[in-house]
Amino acid sequence: MTSFVITNGTVVTEDGPIDTDILVDDGVIARLAPPGSARAESVIDASGLVVLPGGVDVHTHMDSPSGLGHTTDTHQTGTRAAAAGGTTTIIDFAPQSKGEPLPALYERWSEKMYGQCAVDYSFHATISSWYPSITTDMASLVNDGISSFKVYMAYKGAVMVDDRQLFEVLRASASQGSRICIHAENGDVIDAISQQLVDEGKTLPRYHKLARPSATEAEAVNRAIMIARLTDSAPYFVHLSTEEAVDRVQEARAEGLPVSAETCTHYLSLDDSVYDSDDFDVAKYVLTPPLRTRRDQARLWKALGEGDLSVVSSDHCPLCLVGQKDKGRHDFRDIPNGGPGVENRVLVTYSEGVAKGRLTLEKFAQVIATEPAKTFGLYPRKGAIRVGADADLTLLNPDSTTVLSAETQTQNVDYNLWEGWAVRGRIHSVYSRGVLVGSDGRHVGPDHHGQFIERAVRS
Ligand SMILES: [Zn+2]
Repeated sequence: MTSFVITNGTVVTEDGPIDTDILVDDGVIARLAPPGSARAESVIDASGLVVLPGGVDVHTHMDSPSGLGHTTDTHQTGTRAAAAGGTTTIIDFAPQSKGEPLPALYERWSEKMYGQCAVDYSFHATISSWYPSITTDMASLVNDGISSFKVYMAYKGAVMVDDRQLFEVLRASASQGSRICIHAENGDVIDAISQQLVDEGKTLPRYHKLARPSATEAEAVNRAIMIARLTDSAPYFVHLSTEEAVDRVQEARAEGLPVSAETCTHYLSLDDSVYDSDDFDVAKYVLTPPLRTRRDQARLWKALGEGDLSVVSSDHCPLCLVGQKDKGRHDFRDIPNGGPGVENRVLVTYSEGVAKGRLTLEKFAQVIATEPAKTFGLYPRKGAIRVGADADLTLLNPDSTTVLSAETQTQNVDYNLWEGWAVRGRIHSVYSRGVLVGSDGRHVGPDHHGQFIERAVRS
């Protein structure tokens, strides 16, 4: 592969933004050199651009069973959208089928993603169908480079684990060095509240919010932390949305417990006022947990700044309003939960975070790339602009704007959560292992470019 140099840009390294040339050779960052000093076969002028480590999105659901049918992005269309939006590595969730042994899940999802992805990829194995030797089988996946698993504390009768199973999975992860992603909501309480709402005739999508009060998240986070501390494991909470839950995580971390957590783009940028309508379109925002108050949102930003939340993921779970979500027209419980965002995560977080003065450029790079890579065993190959790392680079124009819309998006779904928003910044170009995969917010590379990345256990 020919070598090239990126020059004149503001390069966001782990030591902060600096002026440096980046020499890329054979898909790898070969050298950081004083501005204007590097020589290569071709030169990319990044004047006026911010050069970021390629985004790492550790929470996507592509071609995944959800309610009726599947999420609408295949691994091909979903990773094109990732590339378009500045994300160069995804970790997808592989959902276990009923009774499916984990090694069979590994084979099935590996085959499904192989040759389909526009960017590099891995997956977490979701544990939702228990069998006696399952914790032993977890170890075989860790050996194959899948060093993380997911469990749900909600959706009883579908995917929810009970406390004993949660304990056993956490205990197994401690000796394996694997990491457990936890969907923390109290499923039993949510089911009871939902039933009551429907019994009272409250079936519109707006009631999705009332069915999942803040305490159902905080209680589950607290319970999981207490169970995890019995096992010396390192739980990772997905999609935290509330002040109360973040407070629990912050307290645990202050005690020195190895607890980490993410929030998602939509919790940082949208709030629960979207549910103040009887319109069925509110179903767009039926995602789990629901959008929260402005006060919760402020707490999430503060926690990102202070490190108690370390990752921003998309929880990309695209489901069309027409043909999928509208199956819940008469009962909000039948609306499949989820919303799209793999394409929008980097820009919306930049616009709401950096452009509004809530995050420094350095912190922004950490939460969209470095910390997710470190948490899930991809670093130092991914997640940072450093010598020896893959040349995964996202060049962003901070002086331009981008209008977000379902009309113009790459992700394969019939709406956009930020429809009509003119966000600050524009994705100028995206490189994956030195290959151009995104340009001016569009995917441009080959569909089969993405490689499976084996992930290390936690240190
Ligand atoms: Zn999810």
